[in-house]
Amino acid sequence: MEPVLKTYYEALENDKILGLRCRECGAVEWPPVPTCNTCSSTVMDWVEIEGTAIVEEFSPVSKAYTKPPFEKFAPLYMFKGYLKEGTYVMNMVLDVTPEINDVVEQKLKDKETVNLVAKTLKLDDLNTVAFYLKD
Ligand SMILES: [Zn+2]
Repeated sequence: MEPVLKTYYEALENDKILGLRCRECGAVEWPPVPTCNTCSSTVMDWVEIEGTAIVEEFSPVSKAYTKPPFEKFAPLYMFKGYLKEGTYVMNMVLDVTPEINDVVEQKLKDKETVNLVAKTLKLDDLNTVAFYLKD
């Protein structure tokens, strides 16, 4: 089996966010897992994740759960939603203030689309992905 985590983290080092697309049904897994969650196929191809997402739910993260190395980004917010590739995702959103959170909440109440963009985030000993509000 291909070393999925190694490939994923090496790509993050090069500012690429990779997922795995199922060759059977086309579903995209992100973060990548070697088996399709939709049809259980193990025939998967690497694809670069474009990075945009649409918010369905948006909420602040309790301070109690804001642990290093992320405490420097507090207050943290989480979203649940979908990548452009159709993948359900739950992840953190950075650079949000309580005032911006109020705007996002209002937009969601008004059924307006809230777009995010994913970017690689390089921390001391960890490469990861964070989402940011678009516009
Ligand atoms: Zn599949």
